[in-house]
Amino acid sequence: MPVDLPSPIDSQIVIETYTDSTGTECQKRYRKGNFLGKGGFAKCYELTDLESNIKYAAKWITKASLSKPRAKQKLKSEIQIHRSLEHQHVVKFHHHFEDKYNIYILLEICKNKSLNDLVKRRKRLKEVEAKCYIAQIISGMKYMNNRNVIHRDLKLGNLFLNEKMEVKIGDFGLAAKVVFDGEKKRTICGTPNYIAPEVLSSRVGHSYEVDLWSLGVITFTMLFGRPPFETRDVKLTYRKIKSNNYSFPSHVIVSDESKDFIKSLLKTDPKSRLGLDKIMDHEFLQNYPELLPASTLSCPPSRS
Ligand code: ADP
Repeated sequence: MPVDLPSPIDSQIVIETYTDSTGTECQKRYRKGNFLGKGGFAKCYELTDLESNIKYAAKWITKASLSKPRAKQKLKSEIQIHRSLEHQHVVKFHHHFEDKYNIYILLEICKNKSLNDLVKRRKRLKEVEAKCYIAQIISGMKYMNNRNVIHRDLKLGNLFLNEKMEVKIGDFGLAAKVVFDGEKKRTICGTPNYIAPEVLSSRVGHSYEVDLWSLGVITFTMLFGRPPFETRDVKLTYRKIKSNNYSFPSHVIVSDESKDFIKSLLKTDPKSRLGLDKIMDHEFLQNYPELLPASTLSCPPSRS
């Protein structure tokens, strides 16, 4: 029988109890701050360490929501994979702990929210901005690839911006570790608009290339303000993905090199997609700044 534990989500202080190296039981206190957002099964709040004053983004998962073994296993895998990663373009995993009611995952706080918030605010981004963000995402993807990790849910809502406007890949809830060369994953997962065709045809299995497909969807969405396969009906979206049925809206002027970049990622055959080894040589990824000014959070960059 699942136990429905009351969750003191309104409590303003969170206490972490841990044992130090001498075996003494210690406590750390955190103040709960602003609500940052809500995901599939977590709420995210700002937590301030009262001793050091360091602020974290804390994913706050009620134990009551983990009554099903599958949910527990999923969280365990997310923690296991995310904590093993450390890179400039991956949200830093600080540590995790639990109390009687909740599990808390303490992450690097990304004060400038997600790229989804940015694109919604700005409607669409300029090519120079897309280039700058895509190059940073690729850097994070190369690192994940070297660590044998497939993210499997790359989308604008899982890409965050810190105060320096650096992109950070987050939410490893659907990530998978490739255990042996050539291993194919079979779990159908992802977010409808970003899901790769080989994930939908579960017969063949999928691997790293699903993240390249998502990168194509991300680039398209940044430049045109909507995902390429979006419809009102998920089944129709899946049909469009499987038949590679998308087109570039004519009312937005976008260069041929950008379109070619998107086309080279949105290829039905995973092996034909532009790979991480060659991707930075593409014409799209030339001439862009390392970082963008914070003013671009609300206004397009000025042309120089
Ligand atoms: P879930 O795994 O349940 O989908 P997410 O990881 O997507 O949860 O987080 C839920 C929301 O919390 C996000 O959409 C975002 O608004 C916010 N969030 C998550 N991580 C951070 C972070 N590191 N910094 C700031 N906000 C974050």
